[in-house]
Amino acid sequence: MLKEDGKMKVGVLSFQGGVIEHLNQIKALGHTGVEVKKEKDLDDIDAIILPGGESTTIGKLLKITGLIKSLKEKIESGLPTWGTCAGMILLANEVEGQEEKYLQLMDIKVKRNAFGTQIDSFKTHKVIEKISKDEMELVFIRAPYITEVKDNVRILCKVDDKIVAARQDNIIVTSFHPELTNDVTFLNYFLKSKWMK
Ligand code: GLN
Repeated sequence: MLKEDGKMKVGVLSFQGGVIEHLNQIKALGHTGVEVKKEKDLDDIDAIILPGGESTTIGKLLKITGLIKSLKEKIESGLPTWGTCAGMILLANEVEGQEEKYLQLMDIKVKRNAFGTQIDSFKTHKVIEKISKDEMELVFIRAPYITEVKDNVRILCKVDDKIVAARQDNIIVTSFHPELTNDVTFLNYFLKSKWMK
């Protein structure tokens, strides 16, 4: 539960991928970051981040450990959730050209490694109006983008006409990696959202 001093306990799914970077940003904002690997780790967290990495690996571990069931229930019951990159893929209802599905909690269809091999990693700068009036650095690494959304999904940002950030109820997804920059604006936005109790 959120304490009176506004400090939160934020879980980071810690099977594989960019875990440390998220934990460092959580700490930089004065909150407590905790690694989530098993059901018990979900008990008293105020929010969770599903990091970037390899969605097939993280997805496989979610299934093997059985964590997928309790994590899904927890997010469905309103746990504020932010999926970065592979995390976005894990949350999507559909992945283009792939049978394998994971949490299926967001009404989006995503395309993996979608920016192509020639420019598979790149940086750009953009103002995301709903988040900040200042430009943010957006880092993309073999990133997916969203190819379809249902009406209940709010688009937060597009790059080259491709949807790279969106929100549905308590879930936010980004194709890019704010945790790989020195800017905590995005994490702050996530943790200060109105649905954060
Ligand atoms: N390409 C990875 C995947 O498909 C995602 C890359 C990332 O998370 N940086 O799972």
